[in-house]
Amino acid sequence: MTHEKYSHLLSPLDLGHTQLKNRVLMGSMHTGLEEARGGFTRLAAYYAERARGGVGLIVTGGVAPNRAGWVKPFGMKLTNYYEAFRHKEVTSAVHHAGGKIALQILHTGRYGYHPFAVAPSAIKSPISPFKPWKLTRRGVEKTIADYVRTAKLAKWAGYDGVEIMGSEGYLINQFLAHHTNKRKDKWGGSYENRMRFPLEIIKRTREAVGEDFIIIFRLSMLDLVPKGSQWEEVVELAKRVEDAGVDIINTGIGWHEARIPTIGTMVPRAGFAWVTEKLKKEVKLPLVAVNRINMPGVAEKILSSGQADMVSMARPLLADPEIVNKAREGREDEINTCIACNQACLDHIFSMKTASCLVNPRACHETEIETRPAALKKKIAIVGAGPAGLQAAVTASERGHDVTLFEAEEKIGGQFNMAKLIPGKEEFYETLRYYKKQLELKKVVLRLNHRVTAKELTGFDEVILATGVVPRIPKLSGVDHEKALSYIDVLKKGAQVGERVAILGAGGIGFDVAEFLLHSKETPSPGKDLGTYLKKWGVDAENEARGGVDGVKAQFHAPARKIYLLQRKKTRVGKGLGKTTGWAHRLSLKQGDVEMINGADYLKIDDSGFHYQRKEKVHHIEVDNVILCTGQEPQRELHEELQRLGVSVHLIGGAEATPGLDAKRAIKQGLLLANRL
Ligand code: FAD
Ligand code: NAP
Ligand code: SF4
Repeated sequence: MTHEKYSHLLSPLDLGHTQLKNRVLMGSMHTGLEEARGGFTRLAAYYAERARGGVGLIVTGGVAPNRAGWVKPFGMKLTNYYEAFRHKEVTSAVHHAGGKIALQILHTGRYGYHPFAVAPSAIKSPISPFKPWKLTRRGVEKTIADYVRTAKLAKWAGYDGVEIMGSEGYLINQFLAHHTNKRKDKWGGSYENRMRFPLEIIKRTREAVGEDFIIIFRLSMLDLVPKGSQWEEVVELAKRVEDAGVDIINTGIGWHEARIPTIGTMVPRAGFAWVTEKLKKEVKLPLVAVNRINMPGVAEKILSSGQADMVSMARPLLADPEIVNKAREGREDEINTCIACNQACLDHIFSMKTASCLVNPRACHETEIETRPAALKKKIAIVGAGPAGLQAAVTASERGHDVTLFEAEEKIGGQFNMAKLIPGKEEFYETLRYYKKQLELKKVVLRLNHRVTAKELTGFDEVILATGVVPRIPKLSGVDHEKALSYIDVLKKGAQVGERVAILGAGGIGFDVAEFLLHSKETPSPGKDLGTYLKKWGVDAENEARGGVDGVKAQFHAPARKIYLLQRKKTRVGKGLGKTTGWAHRLSLKQGDVEMINGADYLKIDDSGFHYQRKEKVHHIEVDNVILCTGQEPQRELHEELQRLGVSVHLIGGAEATPGLDAKRAIKQGLLLANRL
């Protein structure tokens, strides 16, 4: 049954030599499984699950055409039949599950994190410590031949096509842009010459693989670097790519070195569909829109309004492999939505760990984490409906246990009810919607407004304490002064906050509270409003400036308050934030003139404000309020009593421990514990 609400999304796409069953392309993501022991078996399970979930075409993580193109030493490459043979496990699993899969060919060029990196010119990138070697003329020819060889091997290994990665600042972009390509031969100089490299790759690949093989070209439509391509160049390249034998053009947004967040939670949904739409007027080939398309409704709007012919969903398929099936069956309220946090996907990859997903810890662990029916049905009480308790309740119930979930507050969600209020974190509402629906479907007995006592829990076979945390109140003179507020007073209780504020503690919560206080009720959240987002980050909404940014001034709304953000550590403020998003959070506060102060020894809070010492000098800041974001302590007073009463009791999430606590850990603990009971 095709759900009529998604008639565009679910309609097939005819490529002439083959048909895709719908308009959803699973965008390329490196998972870390590519290089892991037993990686092919794990990749096969991971992709097959997404194919069963109904996605139209999967694109693999990037695979290098040769050693120089590696992402990092010993990264995945496809250069011979031995390597190709191992891919057959992946392609056959996907085909068996009714899906189609294309291999992405990615040459990193000067972004390669190794000493063999090559580029059109020997110019180091700002984000890599390695200066690349300049490719010789022979080297360029050889590299093109290597792309072609990889495409042929991919076909041999059973792939339905290849995606030639021509965006995000990788090798092909480096040939296209004048500032990274200073060559004087036929591969550099005029734009005609600079385009030659990708066009030759496409032409020769098409000749080698024949007509019955999908070729996608990922084209950088908005470089987001000042010396990037101009729109006219993008159009010219797209037309030439079309003639060279490509089937689909996928959109690329932003080089990796760009200092503009393009996929984080602070980017509005479908925040770049307008770029693809602009190209739609110029070419006939199917175009794919990308970035922050995380729900079928968002995708359908893009397709039905003619902004693109397909949508790419990458992280949303980590979060929920069933997203397409759920749309088809009208079960969109059951979708586990990607909240764009990057915490378990990109942050893991950049920390050399296997990718996963904060809201779906099974992602990329399909062969290890399985929820099976319980051998013995038990009566289980779960105390606390924050992320840890919610996940435990859903999984325990799915296994057939009889589950009661107690929550002291009037609604589920725990700290997520504060997180969702932060401008740019609106997606957190979706996680709560998902869990609410799951509790209903799994028939969990939910007892809201019920602060449970130990005595009430004695009749259960197992008790899971997911009671979260209490804020840490530091020992500090004047901490009970009326100026002092906790983050809970501000976010949950709606306390009035003055115009000058000191925030103590610059962890995730300190940063979020600062972002919250920079906005007034009247300021639109950049996470919700495209115009505000583009202005805030200095992106030309017409894409006429070079790279979409050259000469465009970032315009931040007038900050609602003067904010000082302090920490005791001497390290850079914000150093502990997410690896791939921390810089954007820091930059965002800087735009709001937040003063970040490290190495502060807190002295006292009094009528005149806040006093601290730094480098032997005493400072006084006149503020109306001092907001404590000084960490958290576990809340588990029921634990000892339950143990005394002989109850089988388990601790998860913040109740278990606070160092290193975040929602990723809380949800994973809930899942793993419930799978064991
Ligand atoms: P909690 O979410 O604290 O939930 C515990 C629940 O137990 C509460 O609902 C409480 O009412 C209930 N409870 C307590 N005692 C009882 C009792 N006796 N009876 C019944 N119910 C009881 N993490 C991230 O990973 N990424 C983020 O971007 C992020 N942003 C955040 C932003 C803010 C502003 C805040 C405050 C937190 C943020 N966090 C974030 C942290 C994340 O929300 C927590 O790590 C996570 O909620 C911890 O989950 P939990 O289930 O252990 O506890
Ligand atoms: P946190 O990141 O551990 O930060 C706590 C802050 O309190 C630190 O800056 C610490 O810095 C300070 N502190 C600790 N003990 C103190 C004391 N005794 N006196 C004064 N200051 C003290 O924790 P959090 O900000 O409370 O956040 C809780 C959890 O939620 C974290 O694990 C975080 O990862 C998660 N979270 C994540 C995000 C995200 O975007 N990923 C956002 C919000 C929250 P100094 O010791 O240097 O002063
Ligand atoms: Fe999306 Fe966060 Fe999961 Fe990554 S970790 S897929 S950004 S929800």
